[in-house]
Amino acid sequence: MSAAVTTSDLVAWIRAFRDAVHQQKDELTRLDSEIGDADHGSNMARGLDAVIAKLDVAPASPTELFKTVGMTLVSTVGGASGPLYGTLFLRMGPALAEADPVDAAALGAALRAGVEGVIARGKAEVGDKTMIDALSPALEAWDSAARDGASPAAAAGAAAEAAARGRDATEPLVARKGRASYLGERSAGHLDPGAASATLLLEALRDALAAAE
Ligand code: ADP
Ligand code: MG
Repeated sequence: MSAAVTTSDLVAWIRAFRDAVHQQKDELTRLDSEIGDADHGSNMARGLDAVIAKLDVAPASPTELFKTVGMTLVSTVGGASGPLYGTLFLRMGPALAEADPVDAAALGAALRAGVEGVIARGKAEVGDKTMIDALSPALEAWDSAARDGASPAAAAGAAAEAAARGRDATEPLVARKGRASYLGERSAGHLDPGAASATLLLEALRDALAAAE
């Protein structure tokens, strides 16, 4: 088993994320219809289809891949989530430019750079009922697994579990950021759609890296 993640493993991640979003498209849109404007599933599916169309020519490096993914998401996903997911990938790329090999620690550091970019842009904290509620605990779980010597796939597995717990914990929360915050107290009692798609992102990474091991 190799601890190094290749560019093609990361392409497989993006493809798996696209497939998962398509599979859950109606559910993501249903969640967004409860506390938003019923477009999160279609927004993400459209953006990821545009991304996949650009991956016919294999990217030469993780940095090149994530630049393509980020720029395409910014320009094709409408709403709040496009710029936020775009920022996540645009920040991950440079963080991996010097990483050789791309091991669990390097990938964890890149994810952290990406999530810090989302926080800088969207100003959400844990508990605001956004994608950060899934992403932030996922980072903590990733780093703790990586420190214990976990493989990239095992670290991604721990991160995906933490993301799912964070997603589930958004249900009782009152939204403080994004469109759902306009509902005030009425936003409580529903899962956050962005936390649900962010969990799919980590689950797709877990699955792609497990298949590569
Ligand atoms: P829009 O709300 O513009 O219709 P989407 O429906 O595609 O965009 O995405 C909504 C999701 O975006 C929310 O469920 C939430 O997770 C996320 N989101 C919105 N605002 C922010 C923010 N400021 N920071 C982080 N995530 C946010
Ligand atoms: Mg929406």
